[in-house]
Amino acid sequence: MIRVQEAKSIIKNHIIPLEKENIPLGKAENRVLAQDVVAAFPSPRFENSAMDGFAVRSSDTIKASQENPISLKVIGVSSAGSPSKLALNTGECIQCMTGAKIPNGADAVIMVEDTSGFSDPDAVQIFFEAHPGKHIRKKGEEIREGDVLISKGTRITPSEIGTLATCGYGEISVAKKPRIAIFGTGNELVEPGNELKEGEIYNSNLYVFADLVEKSGAEVTMRDVIKDDKASLRSFLSEALETCDMVISSGGVSMGRYDYVRDVFIELGVEEHFWKVAQKPGKPLFFGTGNSTLIFGLPGNPVSSYIGFIEWVWPVTETMLGEKNNSHLMGILKEAFPRETIKHRFLFGKAWLQDGKLVCRPSTKVGSHMLSSSLEANCILSSEPGDGQLQMGDEIRVNILPWKQIQ
Ligand code: AMP
Ligand code: MG
Repeated sequence: MIRVQEAKSIIKNHIIPLEKENIPLGKAENRVLAQDVVAAFPSPRFENSAMDGFAVRSSDTIKASQENPISLKVIGVSSAGSPSKLALNTGECIQCMTGAKIPNGADAVIMVEDTSGFSDPDAVQIFFEAHPGKHIRKKGEEIREGDVLISKGTRITPSEIGTLATCGYGEISVAKKPRIAIFGTGNELVEPGNELKEGEIYNSNLYVFADLVEKSGAEVTMRDVIKDDKASLRSFLSEALETCDMVISSGGVSMGRYDYVRDVFIELGVEEHFWKVAQKPGKPLFFGTGNSTLIFGLPGNPVSSYIGFIEWVWPVTETMLGEKNNSHLMGILKEAFPRETIKHRFLFGKAWLQDGKLVCRPSTKVGSHMLSSSLEANCILSSEPGDGQLQMGDEIRVNILPWKQIQ
C-alpha cells in the first residue's frame, strides 16, 4: 500500500500529452485549445453606429433641443452590411442603423428617439446636441490587432466559441480527445431498465464513468459490462490495449475470489506500477501501463468509483489535453470530518460561501456503497491521514466538482 502523494507522482511520470488536430469551430465545445488565439484584425473592424439613428456632423447639432430643433437634409442610408458611399457636407445627415459603417464626414450619431424619425426620407428634425463620437463604436476599442485573446490550454466554452467566431476562426487546433475504454465487472450487474433477479443490482458505475469521460473532454470508444470470467475480460482488454489511450475499469480489483481484473491485466503484459493506495474509499486502486495506454482499475463500490475517477482519472485527462490543472481550494469545516489514522480520507461534501469565506461539510451518508451521498454534493473533501477527526473550524481540501458551483 502506497501513499496518495507517491501514487500521484508515479502516474504523472507516465502521462503522454496527446497530439493536436484541426476541427471546425462548430465542433469546438469542451475541447482544449492547442494554439493561442490571436486577433488578426481589430474589433470593431471599422467605426460603426451603436444605435439606430442619424449620422451627423456634431457641429451641425449645436444647441439643438426639443423646443429648438435643427433641420437636416437626409442624403442617404447606411445600414449594417450596406455602407453608404456618400460623404456628409454641412447641413446633411445619413440614416444610419446599428452596426452600419459611419459615413465619411460624420462624427456622431443621434439616436432616432431624439429626432422626428425615419418617416420623411428627405429631411429630419434633430432634438439633441451631439458631441463628437456620440454613439460611435471606435475601431479597435474592444480588441487590438495582435492581441492574444485566449491562450493555449484553455477549455472551450460558449465565451471562447463566440470570441473565435468574432475573430473569424472557422477551424482551430485542439488536443485530440483521449480515447477511453470503460468496463464494469460483476455477475450481479444488470443494465437499468431490465428486471432484477435475486442478488442482482443495477450497473450504475459505467453510466457515471461515461458522463465523467465526456465532461472531462475525452471520449468513450469501448464500453462493456463483463462477467467475472477471465476469457471475456481478456478479449475486451486486449482490444482496449491496442486502441485506447486509457482503460478504466470498475470492480474486480479487490481481494475477492472472483476479482480477476488485475490477473488479466498482468497476463496481457500490463506493467503494474501500484495496486492499493492508502485511501478510503478505494484502497485497491490499480495503476499500470501497456505500451502507451494508461490503465486504472477502480474498485466497484459506486462512491469509490466516482470519487476515484474525479481524484485520479480526471486530472490525467486534463494533463493529456494540455489543460492547466486547477489548484484546489481550502475550506473551513462547519462539521467534524472523519479523518483516518493511516489512510487519506475522501468524502462527497457541500461547500458554500459564508461571510466571504469558503466553508464546507461532509455528506451525512459515508458508506462507499451510498451513491446518493453525491446528490447534494458540489465537491469532494479530503484529508491527509492524522490522529483524531478534524473538528469544526479546521481547514480541509475542497475539490469542487467541475460542473458544479459554489453558492
Ligand atoms: P468489487 O470491487 O467487484 O468487489 O465490487 C464492490 C461492490 O461494488 C459490490 O457490492 C459490487 O456489487 C458493486 N459494484 C461493482 N460494480 C458495480 C457497478 N458497475 N455498478 C454498481 N455497483 C457495482
Ligand atoms: Mg465484483
